[in-house]
Amino acid sequence: MSAQRHQRVLLKLSGEALMGEDAYGINRGTILRMTEEVSDVANLGVQLAVVIGGGNIFRGVAPGAQGMDRATADYMGMMATVMNALALQDALKHRGVDARVQSALNIEQVVEPYIRPKALRYLEEGKVVIFAAGTGNPFFTTDTAAALRGAEVGAEIVLKATKVDGIYSADPNKDPSAQRYSRISFDEVIARRLEVMDATAFALCRDQKLPIRVFSINKAGALARAVNGEDEGTLVHV
Ligand code: UDP
Repeated sequence: MSAQRHQRVLLKLSGEALMGEDAYGINRGTILRMTEEVSDVANLGVQLAVVIGGGNIFRGVAPGAQGMDRATADYMGMMATVMNALALQDALKHRGVDARVQSALNIEQVVEPYIRPKALRYLEEGKVVIFAAGTGNPFFTTDTAAALRGAEVGAEIVLKATKVDGIYSADPNKDPSAQRYSRISFDEVIARRLEVMDATAFALCRDQKLPIRVFSINKAGALARAVNGEDEGTLVHV
């Protein structure tokens, strides 16, 4: 069976993916390289919605937030995703890709609010839409925002870019016999207790029959292969 290119995808980029080798923040070289991959895909005519994380700047559950009120820390985490979204939009602009940021929290002087019909229109016009501020609610993650926005915009798949090139039977850093799955069902992921996304995100994707492909952000051309429906990383299917 030949691979078929997806028409509309939701790409989840973690904040950590923007750090590169740095311990914190946004690494310019990394974001430029990542943008190259994203713009290659956008130029194929694939409709691309992006949810970006914030863990490179602030994480609500991180030690740095200890002692803080959790909801307050989470709002800080969501604000961090807005910074990343702006950096990504700017880097895409430098490559000639038109991207719009929509935020789940209202910061109207900086970014427009999340409005679903407008987001759909942008996608139809070929613009990359970057969803910032997660779900807009504390106690959630940007993985859940990816599942939610993916379902809302009718994405065919959630592409989760991580530091690992897929889902393994065990932690490949600890167990040399760990095997990478090429495909695995939602039921099997649950039965084997494999951690793909947080439980809320995973449950949403499973209920909405929204497949997930986990692949490495550090592997050149991996995003394009994932968009083309090729056997890249691991596909979690219904
Ligand atoms: N966050 C939140 N609600 C959301 C999405 C994110 O409260 O809907 C906060 C939460 O504190 C989280 C931080 O924003 O730790 C950054 O998001 P996440 O950890 O998902 O980013 P990533 O791991 O992808 O970099």
